[in-house]
Amino acid sequence: LQARAHECRHQPATTTDGHTVEVCANLGNTAHTPDAVARGADGVGLLRTEFIFMAHPEAPDLETQVHEYRQAFAALDGRPLVARTLDVGGDKPLDYWPLPREDNPFLGMRGIRLSLSRPDILETQVQALLTAAGDRPLRIMFPMVKDVAEFRAARAIVDRVQADVPVADLQVGVMVEVPSCALLAQSLAPEVDFFSIGTNDLTQYTLAIDRGHGTLSAEADGLHPAVLRLIRMTVEAAHDHGRWVGVCGELASDPQAVPVLVGLGVDELSVTSRRVPLVKACIRNLDLATARRQAHRALSLATAAEVRDALEAG
Ligand code: PEP
Ligand code: MG
Repeated sequence: LQARAHECRHQPATTTDGHTVEVCANLGNTAHTPDAVARGADGVGLLRTEFIFMAHPEAPDLETQVHEYRQAFAALDGRPLVARTLDVGGDKPLDYWPLPREDNPFLGMRGIRLSLSRPDILETQVQALLTAAGDRPLRIMFPMVKDVAEFRAARAIVDRVQADVPVADLQVGVMVEVPSCALLAQSLAPEVDFFSIGTNDLTQYTLAIDRGHGTLSAEADGLHPAVLRLIRMTVEAAHDHGRWVGVCGELASDPQAVPVLVGLGVDELSVTSRRVPLVKACIRNLDLATARRQAHRALSLATAAEVRDALEAG
C-alpha cells in the first residue's frame, strides 16, 4: 500500500463508491508548506501558528506575520489554508506573555480564553492573515472554544478587521476540543462556517486523561466510543446546517481510525504531512457503505479496546 500510496498521492481521496474526502496537512511551520504539497496534500488543514509567536522574543508584529503567512499561500497555489489563531497557555507558555500561576493550567487561561484577554494580539494576527490571503482561500479557526459566546466574541474581531481588509474567500470556524462544544454543536452550527475536531484535546477532556501523562496517555485513545459519539454529534449538527467538518487531531493520521471517521461523515482529514499519501490510499481502498457500518458498530461498543478489536477483526 505504501508504494501505491506514494504513486497516487496527487489524486483525490475518493472511495470506491465515489465519495471524496479532502486530505490536508497539519503544519507547525509555514516553511514546510511546499513539502506538504509535494506529498499530495489538498491544502493545509491546521496551521499551528504558535511557532511564529514562540520564535520571537516579543509578540511578532503585523509585517512579520504577513511574511510568514504569505509563504504558505504562495506554496499552496490556490489550495485552502486553515489557520488556527494563537493557541498558548496550558502546556505552551510564552516568555513575553506572563500568565498567573494556576493550579490547573489545562483548565485555565489557554486557547481562545487567553486570546480574548488580549484582543489587540488576536486582532493583529487576523489582520496579518487577511492581508496575506488577498484572493486566496483562507479559513480561520479558534482553539478551545467552549460555547457560542466565545465564538461570537472572537468572530466579532474578524468581522471588524474584515471591514478594513476585504478578502475574497474567507470562512470562520471553530475547533471542537472541549466536550461542551460538541454537545452544543447544534447551537454553534448556524453561526460557524465549519468545524474542525481537535481529537487530541477532545480526548483529553472527555476521558479526563492528560494527553502527555507519563503512564496514562496510551489510554487517551480517540477511538473511545465516548469521543466517537461527540464526533457524530458534531457531524450531524454541521450537516443539518450545511457546514463541513474536519478532524485535525492525531486520530486522523491513524489508518485504523480513517474508516470510522469517514463512516461518521467527516468531510476533511488533516494529518501529519508524511501520512498524507497513506491516508489518501486508505480512503481510496474504502467503500462508504462499509465505513458507515464500521462507524455504526464502533459507536455501539463500550471501550476503545473493543473498538480497535472490532476494526482489527474487520
Ligand atoms: C488537538 O487538540 O487535537 C489539536 C489539533 O490541537 P493541538 O494538538 O495543537 O493542541
Ligand atoms: Mg488542541
